[in-house]
Amino acid sequence: MTGTKEPSFRESVDLMFNRAASLMDLPPGLEQKIRVCNATYTVRFGVRLRGEIHTFTGYRSVHSEHMEPVKGGIRYAMAVNQDEVEALAALMTYKCALVETPFGGSKGGLCIDPRQYEEHELEQITRRFAYELAKRDLINPSQNVPAPDMGTGEREMAWMADQYARMNTTDINARACVTGKPLNAGGIAGRVEATGRGVQYALREFFRHPEDIAKAGLSGKLDGKRIVVQGLGNVGYHAAKFLSEEDGAIIVGIIEWDGALYNPEGIDVEAVRQWIVKHGGVSDYPDATHSAEGAAVLEEECDILIPAALEGVINLDNADRIKAPLIIEAANGPVTAGADEVLRKKGTVIIPDMYANAGGVTVSYFEWVKNLSHIRFGRMQRRQEEARHELIVSELERLDRYLGDAWTMSPNFKSKYLKGADELELVRSGLDDTMRIAYQSMREVWHSRDDVEDLRTAAYIVAIDRVSSSYRAKGL
Ligand code: GLU
Repeated sequence: MTGTKEPSFRESVDLMFNRAASLMDLPPGLEQKIRVCNATYTVRFGVRLRGEIHTFTGYRSVHSEHMEPVKGGIRYAMAVNQDEVEALAALMTYKCALVETPFGGSKGGLCIDPRQYEEHELEQITRRFAYELAKRDLINPSQNVPAPDMGTGEREMAWMADQYARMNTTDINARACVTGKPLNAGGIAGRVEATGRGVQYALREFFRHPEDIAKAGLSGKLDGKRIVVQGLGNVGYHAAKFLSEEDGAIIVGIIEWDGALYNPEGIDVEAVRQWIVKHGGVSDYPDATHSAEGAAVLEEECDILIPAALEGVINLDNADRIKAPLIIEAANGPVTAGADEVLRKKGTVIIPDMYANAGGVTVSYFEWVKNLSHIRFGRMQRRQEEARHELIVSELERLDRYLGDAWTMSPNFKSKYLKGADELELVRSGLDDTMRIAYQSMREVWHSRDDVEDLRTAAYIVAIDRVSSSYRAKGL
């Protein structure tokens, strides 16, 4: 994916880490301790399918155990390799520290093209992989808690959770062994949309700070901003849908595996998603111009570019042609270290991956807490909250009658105010709060230090500082 001269994904993450660490005053040796991956487990296992034994290779990498459990998704893709899972595990450590989810970083992957297998075959493969990981505590509610990533979703998480439960029949917290499960198997409302929702909340927070908007050479609000999104998978789809339907942004470009769609008037994200479900790709979609050379649309004129697919898509080959003044990294590692430097020199503002896509792990954290507490959020307080609101509303109604035409309650006030928050509303509120606070911690470093040029370096500084305090508290 990246140009020939470029370092690997893991090296790229390390280079970004080093840039930030060089601006910090870490005790000797601690910098290296934080940067390196603690361990990577490789497993090869056979599964009998269609009368033959098929061998699969999988990984689970643990980057940092300064907090446990360690956390991070499991990816199903042919390109999965050790370098990639280690880079992704490191990003999980920094991501969790930045958004204050109490986890270390981990990541897993299986070399597989899931489209080549039927559902029952995938179940067999997933259960076997989960068995291999669980027996080494690489799936465990208190040590290592996987989640969905590229190529996996609720279905795979339900299989893994069930496999763990079968192997640990007396573990009362078994459900907390993975997150991203379906609601009926111990999941939480709002987890599927969480990463895309987090991207939306991140952009909303960015656009609350005129100084930051100006740094990107933009002005005004999110409303009317032209967006190009790469990848209409779970993350890209939800981000683009929410931004266009709720914030008035205009999706002018959508890049998919079989080319890109472009329409300066705006593209209906939901319609494209339905088209992809039906036809397998974006070709022949009627309401936009299709170009077979999808990656070229990354270079189109727009206000915001959202790479939401693979790592390394913005690299030394195309960085100087990227016109978007603001990039938000919904994918992990979409901009290589080399490209990051080119873009920084151009003045492009990049909202970095470890912050931008942290909505997923944030809501995973809520799910894990829900599983450990064995109760749905809001179950105890919702009706009590409604009863207290009822008291105020009846007083206001009395006032309404008393004042006649001089004062009346606003339409919908009563029904809106009376309703106590359900789990989904609480999850969104917790996610919004997390994204706002994490952004503010990054921008404080960005604006208060002359030697910090960009949000990525600021994000690393905040994260490394937190990880290092936690190591130091352990006496390291
Ligand atoms: N795979 C997601 C990520 O890269 C989610 C991880 C999680 O929920 O643990 O952040």
